[in-house]
Amino acid sequence: MTQASLKTENLSSTNLRLKKRLMRGIGQAIADYNMIEAGDVVMVCCSGGKDSFALLRLLMEMRERAPVDFRIIAMNLDQRQPGFPAEVLPAYFESIGVEYRIVTEDTYSIVREKIPEGKTTCSLCSRLRRGIIYRTASELGVTKIALGHHREDMMETLLLNMFFGGKLKAMPPKLRSDDGKHVVIRPLVYCAEKEIAKYARAMEFPIIPCSLCGSQETAQRKQIKALLSEWEVAHPGRVESIATAIRNVVPSHLADGGLFDFRSLTSKTMIGEEETAFDPPVIGSLPTPVSGIMPIQWLKNDDVSDENPWSRP
Ligand code: SF4
Repeated sequence: MTQASLKTENLSSTNLRLKKRLMRGIGQAIADYNMIEAGDVVMVCCSGGKDSFALLRLLMEMRERAPVDFRIIAMNLDQRQPGFPAEVLPAYFESIGVEYRIVTEDTYSIVREKIPEGKTTCSLCSRLRRGIIYRTASELGVTKIALGHHREDMMETLLLNMFFGGKLKAMPPKLRSDDGKHVVIRPLVYCAEKEIAKYARAMEFPIIPCSLCGSQETAQRKQIKALLSEWEVAHPGRVESIATAIRNVVPSHLADGGLFDFRSLTSKTMIGEEETAFDPPVIGSLPTPVSGIMPIQWLKNDDVSDENPWSRP
């Protein structure tokens, strides 16, 4: 299928640089986690929000010079929410020449019927949606399901789990689907939401508002979002540092006996360089890498040289 319209965007040089940074972030994530392999059929789940529009558009462009061949199918689930403009996404998919599948299932009515008025509907809604996505992926012979979650989604989940769930758990860049038949990937995990939003504005994607279902964010999520935005302004670099920390874990300095065998620890146990007993926290710089993992620089610098075949311009 030709993708002539991919070439016709008219971005300023600033926005071209922004696009390059996002592509470099996606390329880095794909390479780091081996997200896409030769012959993969990647189903990009498109809600009509800025993140999935950006993911689809950038992934399509990257496919043209990717080191491996893979196929992209855009997928949208029309949940029959009141006012959902069902014509917008098919028209957009046609305009960029991507293969697509629209699935229509009235999960909105199910959720309304089952959840009492005023309660948050997201957990049932997401469960239903997940089932439909997996079923569609099987029908289409999909090998990878790509979701548009980004760096801030990862941070929010980490902090929500820590503050309200008693778990040190974020959102993985790659995971096995619940039914064990697919692999879910999140190629935007290194990309900052602010940059994705800027790119989406520059590209004038036909964004569909995400408030159609009438569900409100939980108070906890609102709190975490506010905290992250506050940090972004008051403590530049803090969000990057937390994001880097997620891939820079020292199990012997946490307290989970399932990750580190504290019970068998003796004075003879061999420990790594990063695991000295009284090391102070690293303040004022990104954490030192362990096991050869370099801290992610979050790809803010346009001058970063690119060895990654997934991010070559
Ligand atoms: S915001 Fe609405 S559409 Fe999204 S998961 Fe929650 S209930 Fe479903």
